[in-house]
Amino acid sequence: MILIDGKKISLELQSEIAVEVKELIAIGMKQPHLAAILVGDDPASQTYVSSKVKACDNVGFKSTLVRFESSVTEQTLLAKIEELNNNDDIDGYIIQLPLPRHISEQKMIEAIHPNKDVDGFHPVNVGRLVLNLPTYISATPFGIIQLLERYDIPTDGKHCVVIGRSNIVGSPMSILMSKNTTVGNCTVTLCHSHTKNLKEHTLNADIIIAAIGKPNFLTADMVKQGAVIIDVGINRVDDTSLTKGFKLVGDVSFAEVSEKASYITPVPGGVGPMTIASLLKNTLIAAKKLV
Ligand code: NAD
Repeated sequence: MILIDGKKISLELQSEIAVEVKELIAIGMKQPHLAAILVGDDPASQTYVSSKVKACDNVGFKSTLVRFESSVTEQTLLAKIEELNNNDDIDGYIIQLPLPRHISEQKMIEAIHPNKDVDGFHPVNVGRLVLNLPTYISATPFGIIQLLERYDIPTDGKHCVVIGRSNIVGSPMSILMSKNTTVGNCTVTLCHSHTKNLKEHTLNADIIIAAIGKPNFLTADMVKQGAVIIDVGINRVDDTSLTKGFKLVGDVSFAEVSEKASYITPVPGGVGPMTIASLLKNTLIAAKKLV
């Protein structure tokens, strides 16, 4: 069994981005610039945004953090989005989700100019993904593709079972794995909460991508010997032995499944760390005007 080290690959990617930024600046390009809109004071969102800003510094990007109180109106946010759309110095930006309930996330996402939508959530970018056109692939699926590529995991002609059909992970993942691309060319089965006899599907899978949100859901009896296991889940489970009172586990029952897997991502340290590297890659793509 080979453990897929997302932390290591994420750092590798960030070093590569840093080198490319230096080269681009040396030939006269401006510093790539990522902005983030953060609404309210949710601790998890603050942590995510500050690690994104820090990562920008590490690779030589400029970053701007725009903060609003949780009472901000849709109108004020839309005005800021318009301003960022028209600011030529900003290559791409994200709106940290979730937003307070009185704000429509979809309305905000649709207001972002698709060329600056480095999270890849705008319907135009999702459409471009489906049509195989240049686009921003959203961070988690992009990260998974990079892991499969960097570990040279064969996908051509394989049967890939994706569990979960969310807009941000499962659905785009199923599309990407079926594409006629180096990492792709799989026969894909997309499973979800209405799938009957899930185990019959997973037992036939060469690659399983679990994005369910249920701790330790995928067990060894559901997995074929030698399967590749990508665990997207991040779930908190109580652990009184730790001072924080909880630990993070994936959707895969790691100890037992790792005994059958050929490759497996751990949680934490697998898919999660790739998210930031993917966002930086998308920002570089934006700065180079490739979308
Ligand atoms: P979601 O809640 O939007 O979707 C979950 C999906 O699981 C649904 O499509 C549902 O149909 C399916 N599902 C639920 N119960 C099922 C069952 N019994 N059998 C088969 N399918 C079932 O979740 P999401 O946003 O896609 O996130 C999934 C998990 O991935 C969560 O734990 C989340 O925290 C994690 N996540 C991690 C990252 C990362 O960077 N590692 C990024 C995004 C999400």
